[in-house]
Amino acid sequence: MKIAEVRIDASILEKHDPEWRFALAASPQSQGWVCSIIAEDGTVGYGYGSAMAHYGAPLEAVKANLDRFTKLLIGQDSRKISAILDELDHNVVGNNQAKSAIDCALHDLLARRLGVPICELFGGPAVTEFSSLRILPIKSPEKMAANARKLVNEGVKHLKIKVHGNVKEDVACVAAIREEVGKDIHLTIDANQSYTVKSAITAIRMMEPFNIELAEQPVPAGDLYGLKKVTDAVSIPVEADEAAYSLEQITTIVRERIADAVSLKLSKIGGLRKTYAAAMICEAGGVKYRMGAHSGPRLLPAHASQLAAALPGIWYSSELTEFEGLINDPWEGLQLEDGVLKIGDAPGCGVTPKASSGLPRKN
Ligand SMILES: [Mg+2]
Repeated sequence: MKIAEVRIDASILEKHDPEWRFALAASPQSQGWVCSIIAEDGTVGYGYGSAMAHYGAPLEAVKANLDRFTKLLIGQDSRKISAILDELDHNVVGNNQAKSAIDCALHDLLARRLGVPICELFGGPAVTEFSSLRILPIKSPEKMAANARKLVNEGVKHLKIKVHGNVKEDVACVAAIREEVGKDIHLTIDANQSYTVKSAITAIRMMEPFNIELAEQPVPAGDLYGLKKVTDAVSIPVEADEAAYSLEQITTIVRERIADAVSLKLSKIGGLRKTYAAAMICEAGGVKYRMGAHSGPRLLPAHASQLAAALPGIWYSSELTEFEGLINDPWEGLQLEDGVLKIGDAPGCGVTPKASSGLPRKN
């Protein structure tokens, strides 16, 4: 079945919290592109390419690559996913965000044509329920504790605390949140590269009494030796996120035991196919892995949860529910029930664009 048309539509969604920020930037919006690949029979496959400026992929760059790739897709056999993705890799180095959108759209198109959920293309649904993990953006300790309370009252049992590299202030936030939510809520931290090696070791050790279960990307992405020093010095599992920005980089992290765990993200690694490979590399090398923050409209975590469903080795709660923080998400089909995301049997990635979205839908 040939590819007849490819459409690229902007996806700019406001967050409920206009003051949302993490260590690297303010982030009041979710920004990316929807790639719709339309087959000759009218079936549409959808993929989402996240704008990720902190990975070198701002909104405009993702669009430029999608436009370039679109020209290579028209007229190709839509079933030849690996051949098409191989061609893209030879056409442009990196730019995984645009490649991920196309990888996801091609898998979605194939799964919809076969009438099966995408997870069946990757081994079938080993896991079908995912507990919600929500992110607490950087604010004062009091405001972060209040936000944590609100989410816990909504049924959330896993929270990720964004910290910003100031040991005293970060530990105060962690302490305030633990006191507010009690001992049964699972807490992690994400420093987004904001510590030095020494300050990371100091901060993480000071956070140990508050039962933090995971410390994400404490030091700059390029400092793999520093990341290993932190990993070796603390008892809390350390996770590589920004440092794990490609399949090649993940191979190095696993081989050298630079981190205890790796955060997998479709847009970061280049789509479902490479992310599945990354998970297998982690598994073979004895490094933990899970799905990291898939912040974007439901389309993005829909794909990620399909892959997560086929990965029974995921060790910790994945981050698949940040769509709850977005206004006017044009996608439907993915819903939380009592703080749990459930994967169903709908064909493809499991979400479809609302009629009001203006996005292409099957004829
Ligand atoms: Mg992170």
